[in-house]
Amino acid sequence: MRATVMYGTGDVRVEARPDPKIQHPTDAVVRVLAAGVCGTDLGTYASMPPGHEGRPMGHEFLGVVEDAGAGVSDLEAGDLVVAAWRYSDNTCRYCAMGLHTSCRNGGRYGFDDVDGGQGEAVRVPYADGTLVKLPASLDSALLPSLLTLTDVFSTGHHSAVSAEVDARTSVTVIGDGAVGLSAVLAARRLGAERIILAGRHADRTALGREFGATEVVSERGDEAVAKIRDLTGGYGTDAVLECVGSGTALATSFGAVRDGGVISRVGLPQYTEGPIGAAMMMRNIKLTGGASPARAYIEELMPDILDGVIEPGRVFDLAVGLDEAPAGYRAMADRRALKVLIRP
Ligand SMILES: [Zn+2]
Repeated sequence: MRATVMYGTGDVRVEARPDPKIQHPTDAVVRVLAAGVCGTDLGTYASMPPGHEGRPMGHEFLGVVEDAGAGVSDLEAGDLVVAAWRYSDNTCRYCAMGLHTSCRNGGRYGFDDVDGGQGEAVRVPYADGTLVKLPASLDSALLPSLLTLTDVFSTGHHSAVSAEVDARTSVTVIGDGAVGLSAVLAARRLGAERIILAGRHADRTALGREFGATEVVSERGDEAVAKIRDLTGGYGTDAVLECVGSGTALATSFGAVRDGGVISRVGLPQYTEGPIGAAMMMRNIKLTGGASPARAYIEELMPDILDGVIEPGRVFDLAVGLDEAPAGYRAMADRRALKVLIRP
């Protein structure tokens, strides 16, 4: 088969890889119909040191079950399925808590002899636990939106759920990338009526408005904080969904949240220190968020996509074939594309 492999900064290639085969009775082999390029893939693209053996890329994919091991009971060849961005058994104590990211048997695609998602096929461990059947046709126009369940929309949902967003919550979303826009959509879906989106890219914040943002703040840093304070009578919002991961975004979040409010982080932190000292304590600010246990949310979020209530797949603004995957990475790195869909 052919698959996307990263060799170093800016060096991603599409090349031949061994065809995936069932290795354990709980495996399934999935032929990929659609895969996403994630912001974290872009982080690898920007920072991977050269000189290592190639790393198969991609953890957002959906496709068709081609083969299932003898221990797989819920799936059969021909099923359309979506995977969460980490595989998990869905049976251990952490999975039972809905914390599939901590699954005792879980792991990442592209590591430990497991294929990446940006290729023609993937061997999926713990297939019964990891894969969720999609009641849609293989050529459904809903596939891009269903693909967002693997990670990006589930992550936006996780940011909002962790902050306990509901109809009474005023929300600030920091970041107009695909995760930030997904957080806007998720907050709106949970009932939030006031959503301030902090982002600088007019085309992206325009989609944010369509997703439910009521106000857009294009300033950065202290100026963004001043604007958000202005908009909220000096208080700040009940919740801040931090979808960037930079130290600046965290500082803006502390400035934008009201006393007693919640900061929920889903951007992968690029910092190791932050303002968690006495000021945070005196203001009774709660800090939450983390890696999204996407598998816990898929069944809950899927019906609104199937019913056309939400269309999170609109974050994909560029679709490429597998051979164009390197061009897709470049387009995202150059910010010519918000998020890239690969159709192997
Ligand atoms: Zn588990």
